[in-house]
Amino acid sequence: MIYLDNAATTKIYKKAQDARAIAENEAFANSSSIHSFGMKSSNLLKESREIIASIIGSNPDEIYFTKGATEANNIAISSMSGKNNVAITSSIEHSSVYDSFKNYDFKEVIYLKNDRHGFIDLEDLRNQLNQDVKLVSIIYANNETGTIQDIRKISDIVKNYNKNIVLHIDATQALGKISCDVNKLKVDLMSFSAHKFHGPKGVGGLYVRKEILNKIKPVLHGGHQQVISSGTDNHPAIYAMATALKEQIDTDEFSYVNELNLYMRKLIENNISDYEFNTPEQDYSPYVLSVGFANIKSEVLLHMLEDKDIYVSSGSACSKGNNNRILEALGVDEKYSDGVIRFSFAGENTKEELDTTIGVLKDSIEEIRRVM
Ligand code: PMP
Repeated sequence: MIYLDNAATTKIYKKAQDARAIAENEAFANSSSIHSFGMKSSNLLKESREIIASIIGSNPDEIYFTKGATEANNIAISSMSGKNNVAITSSIEHSSVYDSFKNYDFKEVIYLKNDRHGFIDLEDLRNQLNQDVKLVSIIYANNETGTIQDIRKISDIVKNYNKNIVLHIDATQALGKISCDVNKLKVDLMSFSAHKFHGPKGVGGLYVRKEILNKIKPVLHGGHQQVISSGTDNHPAIYAMATALKEQIDTDEFSYVNELNLYMRKLIENNISDYEFNTPEQDYSPYVLSVGFANIKSEVLLHMLEDKDIYVSSGSACSKGNNNRILEALGVDEKYSDGVIRFSFAGENTKEELDTTIGVLKDSIEEIRRVM
């Protein structure tokens, strides 16, 4: 099997699986129980917070656990909603942000302009800031294109205008891959999800800067386990998430993954005609390579690759039937927009796998173009 769909989800690391098993077998008590067995579980939560905090440069008590980035994004956006509140975001956000803005009440939501590769127009941001803006929410590394926004610059613009505007970033495709130091980025809220960095599915978190905690409202009410998300903590999954994050950082695979990305670009350039890269050549996450092939239906191509045990994505798995929104916002020419394939890499992928992929890709594209 050749798995090139790592932006949809990654394979869990063995170390993370082991960490979860240890917690499930040897420390399975409720982490809220006040007996000593419960303390064993709450100590794992504490250790997990410390590991994540040391990686993002926050205090451990600024990390709140959620069932993933979707919940974290919902908490961030619903907390800042209100009939007098204006929010600024982009048109190329993940659906968990985009749909949150459609479902929570705001006086107005402003969608910033972006260029062909998804970079936010910072001049537009400067122009759109007004006294009713309470939240700016921007994706850090884009799940469709890998485009990395200059969050520090965005923060400087926003905070120079009004330091009380809350800046939220969706760092789901960024954490573990590029620096997510919350103080260097100067962000107030940051969402993340374990299954994007080889942790388990269904667990993630929201970093909340201490100074703005009073603005955050829970979406789930009930227990008092955390201020912003109630219910018994899934401490085995949380411990596995922290273990996975540490492991991904320790593997130091970024330049290797960048080699894979550049290698795949070269293979496409040398073997395929008429395509357009959606991933920029600078300020991109090497974990993602999005390309639109002319005169191709991406789903047909995807299934032809699948027949040869090669797994990619057409646009993104989270936006099935909905990826036109992002492609439209990028201004992808109609000729290429039906044929968009996202290759997304992980440290386990090899150049040999990409050699095999390009052979199948070339034959499949030629066949589709012949019959179309
Ligand atoms: N934001 C981005 C950028 C994502 O890529 C994803 C997952 N596709 C999410 C949010 C949602 O994450 P989760 O699956 O943890 O809810």
